[in-house]
Amino acid sequence: MRMLLSRVHFPVTTLGPGRRIGIWFQGCSIRCRGCVSVDTWSFESGETSVAAVADALSAWAGEADGVTVSGGEPFDQPEALAELLEAVRTRVRGDVLVFTGYPYDRVSLWLARHPDLVDALVTDPYDPDVPQTLALRGSDNQRLHLLTALGRERLSGYARPLQPTERALDVHVTEDGEVWLAGIPRRGDLDRLTTMLARIGHQVRTSEGRHS
Ligand code: SF4
Repeated sequence: MRMLLSRVHFPVTTLGPGRRIGIWFQGCSIRCRGCVSVDTWSFESGETSVAAVADALSAWAGEADGVTVSGGEPFDQPEALAELLEAVRTRVRGDVLVFTGYPYDRVSLWLARHPDLVDALVTDPYDPDVPQTLALRGSDNQRLHLLTALGRERLSGYARPLQPTERALDVHVTEDGEVWLAGIPRRGDLDRLTTMLARIGHQVRTSEGRHS
């Protein structure tokens, strides 16, 4: 099945417990004010197939503690999301955490149709006017839903305020000198980091844990 992908990466350590495979969908129709992942909005790039993405992440399956899916907006490609997570379940042990900018009601039908594919879900759009104090959330209007026993076991600890030690971002430098950041940035972090890295010749791309 066709899908639009921004990127995959391993290990991601700032978006859920342990060392995780990160999958960022390409394309987002929600377009929150203040989004720091504007590069993932377009539906005109990143074309690949679910099978190719599943094959790519198989290389990390033995080492991964879980999978985090973000974007872009995963639920803008609902069929591809389901097929990809079915493949993930057969390849990767560990929990599956998905970030969406839609409210829970908007994705509840999909979840009912696929009750075993997502262990934990962070919903709702990023709102730059709302404070940011909660773990895994870019703004405090976003909600963490623990959907399975595994989700409750692995992620119930995130239903609390952000700890100072969690104020971290994963940084990945490509062979072309591009810098990818993953995690939940605090307000102003990305501007400061982008300026700093630009001074030493790096172009920065951001893919937040989501929606921050
Ligand atoms: S914050 Fe997330 S949902 Fe909102 S526009 Fe950006 S990618 Fe889309």
